[in-house]
Amino acid sequence: MAQSPDKKTDELVFLALGGLGEIGMNVYLYGLGPVQNRQWLMVDLGITFPGPTEPGVDIVLPDLRFITAEKASLAGLVVTHAHEDHIGAIIELWPQLEVPIYATPFTMGMLRAKLSEFGGRLKPALREIPLGGRFDAGPFNVEFITMTHSIPETSGLAIRTPAGTIFHTSDWKLDPEPVLGKPIDPEKLKSLGREGVDVLVCDSTNVLRDGVSPSETEVANSLAAIIKKAPHRVAVTSFASNVGRVLAVARAAHAAGRHLVIAGRSLHRVIEVGIDTGHLPPDFKYLDQEEYGYLERSQIVVLLTGSQGEPRAALSRAADGEHPDIKFSKGDLVIYSSRNIPGNEKAIGRVQNALARLGCEILTDSEDLVHVTGHPRRGELRQMYEWIEPKALVPMHGEARHLRAHARYAAECGIKNVIVPEDGAIVRLAPGKPTIIDDAPVGRLYRDGRLVVPGDTGPVRERRKLSAVGIAVASFAMTPRGEQVSDVMAILDGIPHTTRDGDSMEDVVLDAVEGTIESIPKARRKNHELVRDAVYRAVRAAIYEEWGKRPIVKIMLHVVE
Ligand SMILES: [Zn+2]
Ligand SMILES: [Zn+2]
Repeated sequence: MAQSPDKKTDELVFLALGGLGEIGMNVYLYGLGPVQNRQWLMVDLGITFPGPTEPGVDIVLPDLRFITAEKASLAGLVVTHAHEDHIGAIIELWPQLEVPIYATPFTMGMLRAKLSEFGGRLKPALREIPLGGRFDAGPFNVEFITMTHSIPETSGLAIRTPAGTIFHTSDWKLDPEPVLGKPIDPEKLKSLGREGVDVLVCDSTNVLRDGVSPSETEVANSLAAIIKKAPHRVAVTSFASNVGRVLAVARAAHAAGRHLVIAGRSLHRVIEVGIDTGHLPPDFKYLDQEEYGYLERSQIVVLLTGSQGEPRAALSRAADGEHPDIKFSKGDLVIYSSRNIPGNEKAIGRVQNALARLGCEILTDSEDLVHVTGHPRRGELRQMYEWIEPKALVPMHGEARHLRAHARYAAECGIKNVIVPEDGAIVRLAPGKPTIIDDAPVGRLYRDGRLVVPGDTGPVRERRKLSAVGIAVASFAMTPRGEQVSDVMAILDGIPHTTRDGDSMEDVVLDAVEGTIESIPKARRKNHELVRDAVYRAVRAAIYEEWGKRPIVKIMLHVVE
């Protein structure tokens, strides 16, 4: 144990640096000890994808400055499962933390694969814990409890501390018949409940939906029936990490007497890790994409990446006729065994339109049971509450509307103490009722090309403005005495070229600059600051007059002898 806590001031606190107020970028912290001397445990370190107001960036990362400042008291990073929203920021941000990473074999296998591909010289201490294993990290005793979700080995965490016990569910659903692994063990959860759980920290993603979600096995059966009836090629696109779905598609292909072809780097990586960790049979049979062209149309099931319309993924390239191996033609069936992640609808629609032009049939989860969620609906949440009987509940993994709906639902189900913190709120979980006691700095960072840049003060703010109003740059030279010694030059980007009267917008800018300089008495033109400022305001006003919008304006006044 890292410390012998003073019982009177020993608090158990919780905060999220991401994941409360958005679905994605999950980073949760548990802290134990008096306020000046807390030990911390991090759960998950994920990314999210940029929205329409974050132009040009590749991924969004959490701002860890709060815990980086306390890294000497950070006991470890526990990773619950290998989805990008839980694991995706490790390679980028682990160097700030340098803590041991704890995970089960499949999750660790996925992390190792990514480290060897993208991690350069990073050498984190990787502590592989068996499924259901239990270990100490600082003052936290952590037990992995295997859940069902949409990727193997997803684990909830029973976190036992001298100040109280938490059950952190991670992402989960109740799947009575998973394609891979075992169903959730109710006895395990009931016994944890009898032992006493102070706070249930629980997935909120599907709280707006009633009932219970179908099982992965029902989806597998439905896919098998659809593939059996298909006359020509069948393509299935899915989230690469759903190893159970990969296995279901493979079985459906073989049952229909077809070959399984795999296309997409991330699918190959997942299949390798799946075989290494025993989730897929060692003789898992599939063909590489190069063989596609040699097979009869009726012999093919191709599983490929690109369900979210990613332009470089195999499906998009095939739909555009640009894939070296995968081609589609009239009558082929393309199954979207996935859901549309909000924000991706346009990109997905673009690919589906391209497929439709080729004459492909498209089948999505709105027409048939070809996908199922990995998150609990209300019926499943209620079952969890009954097993765990927590004294208090903190909703996680949701946007504001999900978190609040989850809080109301939990209260309706009889949980007395429910609190809804968002990212950055420090919640005292114990002793006493959960209470928000403080807040921590939080934010978003962007991976922008080769660099990681800040969200609030970085280039994306300017880029957002540029994308809406464009930029006008005007440049001219003056002597120190204020004589203009060059022509004015102007560059307009993202601004209409002509006015309503058909005049050139560039001329509008040039006239505004010239006119303004002339209007300043000669004696005052040696005050370059004054000239630049007046020209700036004149250019903005002149463009606004014609266009009705104010662009970004930059004036470059060169001083030459
Ligand atoms: Zn998640
Ligand atoms: Zn997940």
